[in-house]
Amino acid sequence: MQLIYNIKAFWLLLILFSFALQVVASNEINLNTLSTDELLQLADEKRSSDYILASKIIDRLDKIPSSLSDNQSAYLAYLKAYRHSFQSEYDQAISLLNSLQNNNSDISIKYRSIGMLINLYANRQDWHNGILQITKLISLTPQIKNKELVQASNISVAIFYNQLAQYQHALDYLDKIKSIIDGNLRDKCIISQQRLLAKLRLLLNEYEVIKSDANLLHQDIKKGLSVCQTAEAKLFINILHTYQAELYLTDKQPEKVITALLPRLNDIKSVQYPILVTLTYNLLAQAYWQLGDTTNTEKYAHLALENDVTSTDSFQTVTTKHLLYQLAEHKGDYKKAFELHKEYSLAKQKVNDEEQAKELAFQLASQKDFANKTEIKTLTRANDILTNEQSLSEQQQENSLLLLVLLLTVVGLGVTWGYKTWLSQQKLKQLTECDDLTQVHSRRHFIALAQQTINQCQVEKKPLTCLVFDLDRFKKINDNFGHHTGDAVLKEVANTCKQVCRPTDILGRLGGEEFAIILPNCELLMGEDLANKCREKIAQINYDNLGLIEPITASFGITCVDVSGFELNKLLADADDAMYSAKQHGRNCVQSYK
Ligand code: GH3
Ligand code: MG
Ligand code: MG
Repeated sequence: MQLIYNIKAFWLLLILFSFALQVVASNEINLNTLSTDELLQLADEKRSSDYILASKIIDRLDKIPSSLSDNQSAYLAYLKAYRHSFQSEYDQAISLLNSLQNNNSDISIKYRSIGMLINLYANRQDWHNGILQITKLISLTPQIKNKELVQASNISVAIFYNQLAQYQHALDYLDKIKSIIDGNLRDKCIISQQRLLAKLRLLLNEYEVIKSDANLLHQDIKKGLSVCQTAEAKLFINILHTYQAELYLTDKQPEKVITALLPRLNDIKSVQYPILVTLTYNLLAQAYWQLGDTTNTEKYAHLALENDVTSTDSFQTVTTKHLLYQLAEHKGDYKKAFELHKEYSLAKQKVNDEEQAKELAFQLASQKDFANKTEIKTLTRANDILTNEQSLSEQQQENSLLLLVLLLTVVGLGVTWGYKTWLSQQKLKQLTECDDLTQVHSRRHFIALAQQTINQCQVEKKPLTCLVFDLDRFKKINDNFGHHTGDAVLKEVANTCKQVCRPTDILGRLGGEEFAIILPNCELLMGEDLANKCREKIAQINYDNLGLIEPITASFGITCVDVSGFELNKLLADADDAMYSAKQHGRNCVQSYK
């Protein structure tokens, strides 16, 4: 078997393994004595526990396609798709499973194919198609009698939603699994791990983590641990320990992180799941950073980097790079800090883009799903009218009024549908174009607008200036006054700059507490003026209502097309370099790129 150990495929493999029926290893089986149905069933049962046998059966049946019934062919195609995904041949698996959707085969085969498609699409981060399959799965579920099958698919959907960062949806699906089939301890453990993952993310996504919620989650994790211990699922036990550690870290209890993870390190390494190892190193590095132990911070941050999982978990890279950047700055090695800051920003940008792609896929799919549902309703109504129309021919006189009312209903429904679709499109547009918190252009939209404007200035041979600014020591605001206060500051700052900007200037939030402004028809000197005006106004904002006494300042970097050219990326990178140099010059100042 050519099973390449691909960490990206981890969840997929997990699912492939976990829902295979547990069958006691059989001794030699004489395949010749079995009927086609029995062979198919055997291949299905053995598909992960005895891959070679399953594969042998598949090959044998594949040689006699004409003797198979439609259902048997579909079953065989499903097993072949399973084999493809096991061998990391995802394209072949997906196309086989999709072809199964269009024939009249057995509904449970269709259902299982959809379940597998969901896993495959999640694996290749094709969120859009994944969600479409989930919609199909939901519509088929009422027809599925086999409870185990429904449970397996609910777990797949929950895992998908967790990967899509739609944690509440994941929880909803896990809640649907009311009666867990007895004896399948591993499923119970996975369900509880997925539930804890969703709860943890929801809790940590809140800017202010409420202590009592964190304590409840600690208790839940303990329960989850005992479930997974009974199932002897070593990997999950360790995953759950990292959840505990994450909670301790947020609660600024670094010693507990260390006591929870350090003794487990060898055990964690032995499960051969690289993301978990990196996560553990990262958590340890952060804990040591909180303790002020720079030697160990550096040690574990480097270990985390050496176990590079950039391609699968960019979030881990961001954390590590951020720590290393802070370390270098702490040591006064500004040159290194500068390089690391660049790497950190790039990694963070990647995470932001991935998050936006997920959110967008989810919004688009929800909108489409809404439209589909409304369409079905409209059709049902139209059908009712046709039925009514027949009886009208008999009692046309009395009931003509009824027809009118019914027609009006359809028209009304159409209008409502159109309006609602328009409304959700507007919402979607707003969501992608506007930054939720500050109401300035989102990064994505800013980049699109900036590119257009730059192109126009290049054609018209006009000057253009690019400005990047970042709030100073902003982390302290969050740490000392809470994220809500931090958010309020961000809003004020964005608002203030909006007022300083000319109507043609483009102000966008690049991410976190970093903003950029594109100033068309503007020479460098004039840009510096505007930057200083923004800088002064930002420092003058009165935060009495938030209980902040010290002014909050920002550092500005600036460049123009004469120096950096008409390439947006270069303009932003140069302005960012200049901004970094403003930080080195004591912050609250404007530096031009040289
Ligand atoms: P520096 O002067 O070097 O820029 O220091 P800093 O503390 O501003 O820089 P650092 O990059 O270390 O910290 C940025 C902080 O901004 C980290 C994070 O807590 C905070 N932050 C990022 N995005 C948001 C947000 O949307 N809301 C709030 N409240 N805080 C945010
Ligand atoms: Mg900052
Ligand atoms: Mg920053």
